[in-house]
Amino acid sequence: MTEEVNAKVLLPCPFCGDKPELVEWEVGQRKYYAVRCRCDVMMGELSTAQGWAKKEDAIKVWNQREV
Ligand SMILES: [Zn+2]
Repeated sequence: MTEEVNAKVLLPCPFCGDKPELVEWEVGQRKYYAVRCRCDVMMGELSTAQGWAKKEDAIKVWNQREV
């Protein structure tokens, strides 16, 4: 159950310490999600330029980012 909780809680940004926000946008008819914060790093080097199709995946990747 721990994993489910983690997939819904965004950890603070390791770079600016700010609280990140989940962003979503549409490309065609598909929705994409990513996480970004004030220092404007969007998923850092893990970026796929398009984001994730699932909110939970975007949050998970953000939370597992290496500093
Ligand atoms: Zn930041």
